[in-house]
Amino acid sequence: MSKLALFGNSPIREKAIPWVNTMGPEETQAVMEVMESGTLSAFLGRAGEHYLGGPKVKQIEADFAAKFGVKHGISVNSATTALHAAIAACEIGPGDEVIVTPYTMVATASAVLMNNAVPIFADISSETFNLNPSEIEKWITPRTKAIMVANMLGLTADLPEIVRIAKKYGLYVIEDNAQSPGATINGKFAGSFGDISIFSLNYHKVIHSGEGGIILTDNDELARRCQMIRNHGEMAADDLGDYETVVLGNNYRMTELHAAIGIEQLKKLDDFLVKRRSLADNLTEQLKTCEGLKGVYVPEGYEHSYYVYPILFDKEVWGINRATFLAAMKAEGFPLGAGLQKPIYLLPMYQHKKVYNQTTFPFSLITNPIQEYKKGICPIVEEMFFDKMIIADLCREPFTSNDIDDFIAAVAKVWAERGKLHEFEKSNTVNT
Ligand SMILES: *Cc1c(COP(=O)(O)O)cnc(C)c1O
Repeated sequence: MSKLALFGNSPIREKAIPWVNTMGPEETQAVMEVMESGTLSAFLGRAGEHYLGGPKVKQIEADFAAKFGVKHGISVNSATTALHAAIAACEIGPGDEVIVTPYTMVATASAVLMNNAVPIFADISSETFNLNPSEIEKWITPRTKAIMVANMLGLTADLPEIVRIAKKYGLYVIEDNAQSPGATINGKFAGSFGDISIFSLNYHKVIHSGEGGIILTDNDELARRCQMIRNHGEMAADDLGDYETVVLGNNYRMTELHAAIGIEQLKKLDDFLVKRRSLADNLTEQLKTCEGLKGVYVPEGYEHSYYVYPILFDKEVWGINRATFLAAMKAEGFPLGAGLQKPIYLLPMYQHKKVYNQTTFPFSLITNPIQEYKKGICPIVEEMFFDKMIIADLCREPFTSNDIDDFIAAVAKVWAERGKLHEFEKSNTVNT
């Protein structure tokens, strides 16, 4: 049976609208100025005038710090390197553990391993999809050094409660805010709650410079360590005769070109968010009319920044599997994401504890582990990934409220055909 015969000959939409270019004349002009100056990067890896980079790099750091209400900004070349530097700056290393959500982009947990510490995974809230504060304490051991929160999809975790737990045990709170620039709790920005936080300027994020990352912290010492990790810290420490803050350095430097683009993009963040929130509010309202689909939940006092829009699928109500629903929606012109992210502890590297060649380092440093990476340790994450979570990337440019209407019409059409889809499912394996 062909797809079209099954799903109807006139799909709601022919095909998905592609990604949109958010670069404007402002970014082009800013890049041209750097090009004409000839100084594409002003960093030098020795203590002195150029240790902290050039004017654009310093400006993007000041702009991010001011925008999100934090004292220090440190620019780097990705959010992944930002995570690595932030963890290293907290002096987390071999033999340490970091509590982290398994429902995040893989880099959040990899950055712990890159510092030779071990991630311990705690379950999420079934409503916000972020780390559930009440799941944290059972995983704390004398080796725990930090709680790493990823503010996922555009929504902040319950950071006030997580900060309270961290204070009780003397732990750092590290915020991975790559997906949620502009999200708030009672007007306070995501990225300003933890001891240190990171943002992404990767091409796929709400604002971008192609690649790039920003670290924010109120802590002078953490800021200084991040600056050193970014730029060959062992050389600078030697120049200064400073063996207190000596750290293993790297080259995580952002170029003046990327900084110039990022400065302009940050100015546009608020406008992008107005657009995202208005489309998302529309979608939330209309989803209330759809049986077996649950739109986003935003806790009282929180503002979502809608990196993507989460929808929960109820297969009991629909009488079909999520994969069948997604195949039908795709045929109607709406490709959607299934599951978001496999629970990180189920990935091969964690299953085989194989990071470095044939050794099991750094896992081997933990002689009495509190956690085994097996199915069942975070049941809510597993339920979301395997059964319920659907990701809609519809709440951004170039989509309009007409696209939201079309989406709801497609859902209604698939709903009306769910009996046929159930029959189809019985005789076919549906892949999405
Ligand atoms: C995208 C992303 C990262 C990594 O960002 P890069 O800038 O691409 O390194 C880290 N964490 C989360 C939650 C992300 O979504």
